[in-house]
Amino acid sequence: MDKNWSEMNKDMQALLSKEATFRDGISKLLELRESLFEQVAQIINTFPEEAFYRMPFAGAEGYHSKTLAYSIWHIFRIEDIVAHEMITEDRQVLFAQGFDKSTHSPVITTGNELSGDDITAFSKQLDVKELYRYALEVKQSSDQILQQLKYVDLKRRFGEEMIAKLQGTGCVSEDENANWLIPYWCEKDIRGLIKMPFSRHWIMHIEAMRRIKNRLCKTARKGVDPVAYCGLSCNHCFLGEWCGSCRTVYNTCSFATYSPDGICPNVKCCKEKGIDGCYECDSLESCEKGFYVPSNDGANAAKAQALYIRKHGKKEFLKVQDRLHQKYDFSMSPEILGQDYREGFRILEEN
Ligand code: SF4
Ligand code: SF4
Repeated sequence: MDKNWSEMNKDMQALLSKEATFRDGISKLLELRESLFEQVAQIINTFPEEAFYRMPFAGAEGYHSKTLAYSIWHIFRIEDIVAHEMITEDRQVLFAQGFDKSTHSPVITTGNELSGDDITAFSKQLDVKELYRYALEVKQSSDQILQQLKYVDLKRRFGEEMIAKLQGTGCVSEDENANWLIPYWCEKDIRGLIKMPFSRHWIMHIEAMRRIKNRLCKTARKGVDPVAYCGLSCNHCFLGEWCGSCRTVYNTCSFATYSPDGICPNVKCCKEKGIDGCYECDSLESCEKGFYVPSNDGANAAKAQALYIRKHGKKEFLKVQDRLHQKYDFSMSPEILGQDYREGFRILEEN
């Protein structure tokens, strides 16, 4: 489990266990949920449509054997049902806000009954933007519920009536892979529900989503030119494990993710000019676009590399990168090439 999330989860549980620290526990829980939800938002904002129905670990044991779209649906369907049918006993967000229609989901269940190709087919049908809106609304609604909880509520339990009520909603399939959920939830008190659907369940599925997206990026980069438009080498980039390269639709480089359209300004500019990369541009030395913005620590090191490519070509550039990584222990090029592109270029030529 991610160390940071695991520690927050542990702290949260310890704080919730005493009345004196209960409020701090709720704050910690909200902080953990915020941090986890950022991952979901980042995936939605940066990944292409096809990423949401791909299943790179099909057939494997574990949560990573699903799709990104399924994972999001499943996390928030479970939370919506538990929060609104069990804790507040009002209407689920799915129905109250019409997401049963707008997400285009063919089911209203948690999805536990689906497997293999059915998950792919289900994921293809979902409107991902609406799915994200649904997830966000469920999160916000649950955050409010959690904020209103009192310490005494943690011991609240659910009886046979709740089991019958949940079965009557049709939100949990009768399939053997799903029907265990209702007794599982109902044997817990609210403290137990906080521990699972509202926190740990998120961690497990969001970690699995990370594995899925990383594998998708790795696969996307196979056979693709490893030289980025700005002059960096994807083969030597510290983000290489997570980023699918700016030459594919799986580009999760920071400048792409910060751009409203999800495209790095350097990539956009090169495409508009019809050039292979910034190393072919006459304005390279004075350019301040995208990765070359002066406030970016890596701007000059990237420029130095682009200048090197301009003079010696990509093949030689990748070789010098290999040599530098053999010689020095570093993760980001400015650590070696510094903050002056002329000096950085000189270092590359000397190596
Ligand atoms: S961040 Fe840039 S250099 Fe790094 S892998 Fe992504 S596109 Fe390549
Ligand atoms: S103007 Fe800047 S961003 Fe555009 S191609 Fe030239 S160097 Fe690259």
